[in-house]
Amino acid sequence: MRKNLVVAEAIYDIVKNLQDNGFVAYVVGGAIRDLMLERKPKDYDLSTSATPEEIRAVFGRRRARIIGKRFRLVHVRCGQEIIEISTFRRNPDSTGQSAKKRQNKLVPENMIFSDNDFGTAEEDAWRRDFSVNALFYDPVNDDLIDYTGCGIDDMNAGVVRIIGEAELRFEEDPVRILRALKLVGQYGFSLEEKTGETVRKLGHLILHSSESRLALEMEKILKNPYCDAILTAFHDYGFLTYCLPYLETNWNSPARTYLMQLLAERKNRILQERYRDSISLAMAVIALPFVEAEIGFGQHGKLWERDYNAGFTIGHIIQEVFQPHNMIKRLTMSAKDILNLQPDFFDSDKELAELLHAHGYAHARELLMLQNAVVWQDKSLIGKWPKPMTNKKRHRHPQRKRPPRRSTPSKK
Ligand code: ATP
Ligand code: MG
Repeated sequence: MRKNLVVAEAIYDIVKNLQDNGFVAYVVGGAIRDLMLERKPKDYDLSTSATPEEIRAVFGRRRARIIGKRFRLVHVRCGQEIIEISTFRRNPDSTGQSAKKRQNKLVPENMIFSDNDFGTAEEDAWRRDFSVNALFYDPVNDDLIDYTGCGIDDMNAGVVRIIGEAELRFEEDPVRILRALKLVGQYGFSLEEKTGETVRKLGHLILHSSESRLALEMEKILKNPYCDAILTAFHDYGFLTYCLPYLETNWNSPARTYLMQLLAERKNRILQERYRDSISLAMAVIALPFVEAEIGFGQHGKLWERDYNAGFTIGHIIQEVFQPHNMIKRLTMSAKDILNLQPDFFDSDKELAELLHAHGYAHARELLMLQNAVVWQDKSLIGKWPKPMTNKKRHRHPQRKRPPRRSTPSKK
């Protein structure tokens, strides 16, 4: 028998609020998977019969903001958190609006450009990507609904099955290829036969996806604690060559083995809540072994010769490793800072106070700890470099302003 799925109180309240106002509302997406697998959901996605304007009317303009163009949804503020609520959609008609918008002949014929046709809960389930992503849960009535009829079985068997005709669905939106493999890595699932065959065949289509959507999905993968297993799934299904070609080229190198060890250690520390799931830190972790391979392997106490033009090499390697992705400049700069600071931990002329206030110290220290856990295992290093004070205002780089948040949501 299925165990009760216990959602966070704030989520229960939002669903109840929508239901009390006469709308149908469910928890959907990753949180359902995590709850069924007894993992802690990282966030919640909600879906409802209310339109974006109706959702905003229920929660008020101060708490609710309509965002997105390609996929309009509402961000509802809940204390410190933002909860995403989308309106039930149906699959857009391929002869309709999205087909008319298509101008570039090189773009695959079935690609979808707009997804704002509202529908019923059942229609909404069928337009989702995989059966395990099409489960709807009503926490108020403890009701788990499996419209596709195989979501629960696939969850139990650990199978990722595309909904509908595989080639069509991956052509409609090639980002689904990456999303399928993310589930393989993140949960140890396997791809259903036809889904797997199609992923292998159509991996190249990812190069036709919108740059901003792809970059957002990449950011989610880098944030994911299971990033190491996800990259391995990409490699196993021949997808890494399109998604991160530099890593694929260097798959059999010692640098790749080392980066997997560092990522595994990062995963442990995130899952034990010893450190946060920073994207820029993940970028620095992935680039570090290649920087070392280029500059010369650092030894404990003598990391990267200072007179070398390391800053330039670091920037260049980060760019190489993550191409063809258009990573946000702020993340790239931060990854660069994290790597640039590494030699300073071994520079006897550096004042502790100076380093403690350096931009990126916390992540740089964490990268040092990851290396220490994997390579040096030197306990004295842990005490030597203290954790930064969390309540202290740290120095920000004067020229570096946060760019405005991207408004394009990652999902369809
Ligand atoms: P995560 O844990 O990474 O958030 P998720 O499955 O919740 O995983 P989201 O991007 O938050 O991913 O999307 C929420 C849900 O929206 C998915 O579970 C899926 O049902 C649907 N969805 C997202 N992207 C697509 C897509 N490209 N095609 C079809 N359905 C999608
Ligand atoms: Mg989600």
